[in-house]
Amino acid sequence: MTYRAPVDDIMFALKTAADLDEIIAGGAVAVDEDTIRAVIDEAGKFASAVLDPLNVSGDRTGARLVDGVVETPDGWKDAYRAFAEGGWASLAADESLGGQNLPEIVAMATSEIWNSANMGFGLCPLLTQGAIDAIVAHGSDTLKATYLPNMASGRWTGTMNLTEPHAGSDLGHLRTKAVPQPDGTYRITGTKIFITYGDHELTENIIHLVLARLPDAPPGTRGISLFVVPKILVNADGSLGERNDVVCAGLEHKLGIHASPTCVMKYGEGGEGAVGYLVGEENRGLNVMFVMMNAARLAVGVQGVAIAERATQRAISYAQERKQGRSAKGRAGEMSPIIEHADIRRNLMTMKAMTQAARAICLATAAELDKAHAATDETARKAALDRAALLTPVAKAFSTDIGVEVASIGVQVHGGMGFIEETGAAQHYRDARILPIYEGTNGIQAIDLLTRKLTLEGGKVLAGYIRELAKTAEEVRASNRPEFGVMGERLTQAVAALEDASRWMGQALQGNTEAALAGAQPYLRLFGLAAGGVYLARGALAVVRDSAGSGPASGANPRIALARFFAENHAVGATALKDTIVTGGDATLLLEPEALAG
Ligand SMILES: Cc1cc2nc3c(=O)[nH]c(=O)nc-3n(C[C@H](O)[C@H](O)[C@H](O)COP(=O)(O)OP(=O)(O)OC[C@H]3O[C@@H](n4cnc5c(N)ncnc54)[C@H](O)[C@@H]3O)c2cc1C
Repeated sequence: MTYRAPVDDIMFALKTAADLDEIIAGGAVAVDEDTIRAVIDEAGKFASAVLDPLNVSGDRTGARLVDGVVETPDGWKDAYRAFAEGGWASLAADESLGGQNLPEIVAMATSEIWNSANMGFGLCPLLTQGAIDAIVAHGSDTLKATYLPNMASGRWTGTMNLTEPHAGSDLGHLRTKAVPQPDGTYRITGTKIFITYGDHELTENIIHLVLARLPDAPPGTRGISLFVVPKILVNADGSLGERNDVVCAGLEHKLGIHASPTCVMKYGEGGEGAVGYLVGEENRGLNVMFVMMNAARLAVGVQGVAIAERATQRAISYAQERKQGRSAKGRAGEMSPIIEHADIRRNLMTMKAMTQAARAICLATAAELDKAHAATDETARKAALDRAALLTPVAKAFSTDIGVEVASIGVQVHGGMGFIEETGAAQHYRDARILPIYEGTNGIQAIDLLTRKLTLEGGKVLAGYIRELAKTAEEVRASNRPEFGVMGERLTQAVAALEDASRWMGQALQGNTEAALAGAQPYLRLFGLAAGGVYLARGALAVVRDSAGSGPASGANPRIALARFFAENHAVGATALKDTIVTGGDATLLLEPEALAG
């Protein structure tokens, strides 16, 4: 089953959730709608023709470590060359770097497409973009001139080296050492694990961004610095010089994304340490890293959307072909395609609605980044950045949870064949499972939402967002349109649940922090359900507006039907989640760790 990029759905989400018309009119996005559609359309063609055909074979072969060098699966090298030559690696990069300076919304839309077609491949440009962002934001002019043009063009790739065996979520304990040298460089020694695309033969150089600690650094996260450590050292004239002292010492064997090499990286095994160059200031590495991590968190959320979209397409295709039983409308003596059964229809509606809600949240977040980037006055810039900061953990965690859930439903729709690798449904499920873990686990995202984002500007950022959600919910309710069913009421209740839960959380954080933290994940889910439901409802309202004059929009219009289904079947969960948060925390903590383990 060939992947088909959902160009219309992406454009619809851009217009209704990311306010495309407004951000173009306001100057935050400097390209017109037709150009955006054309880019997304072309990306879809490239993904279907080049990346999709390698998805299954890449999963089966996997990346291999041969004589100390990582080999990607067959066809990867040609696909990567075509990707870079097609200008896809440089889509979001500045024109001064040879890029196309396209907005974040387009970068995220195309990222969805690469990852739907082939997530093992899509990870490589995703991480390179994070590394580019960090150097752009905090690198010296020399670092920028030396590395950015080749990274932006895709000639070199980038990595993020945070994790160590004893320092994953808690980076404050990382031990990799950086010793300053008289010439202004640093010597890096240590081991990093789980480094995505830490080594490969796709490009002639790999630029590692490495977190390390100076000898006299204060303990914890205040003593971390960030370094550029190229695989091959770059001479003053830009040519490639000697090999740096960094090697891939092993590849992990994983549940999914087999084609993406997950490397153990050793720095300075050969003697004095790998040569590194400081990015930003000493001991301020985590701040720099946050630039990279925030961009990457949104991009990982988009991977959740991508895998959900792909799993949905595959499940629909199977459900149309597979015949079992007789549906309510089926002819006597004949088996019906399973897509006619009410339970399968529920599954497919859930897959579609969840995917579209998650996409809407991710693209709305990307739009805020575009607004911030283009803003000329500081107030507008800060407002957009705050909104993006609020939504980023939701975009990451809600969308990746959805990725796993939708991929799991996809397996279910296939019945026994879903468990058999040949249909491809199982690969999506295996690939999806990493998404709630890397780039900060979803548990950590929920804590971030609760402890840092809820309180942004004394809670005003959240309050402003909830007001906007409530306004749309009320608009739907007040419209009294029969085709909307009780969508308006359900969304009003969901937004009220978010408001109540937020208020309760704000108070609990003052004195009952553990109970608040116990409810962090349900709170993030509640947030995602309310926000996702409202974005879909905005789509339904847009359909009604667009059909004004040509008679009432039908309740069977797919956009209206999905929005209504989401509100009436999933957003209703928001109220129960509020109860979980408000009254469930104490019970969650009833058993002390010893009793829990007993
Ligand atoms: C395939 C793959 C690719 C990866 N790619 C990269 C990469 O390119 N670069 C890189 O640097 N890293 C990478 N990682 C590492 C990844 O980001 C970490 O695995 C992740 O951040 C979690 O860290 P950990 O594995 O040490 O888990 P731990 O931190 O040990 O967490 C274990 C569990 O405890 C929970 N937990 C931890 N601390 C808290 C807390 N304070 N409160 C509540 N719960 C908590 C977590 O949510 C989790 O459920 C990758 C990992 C994998 C598997």
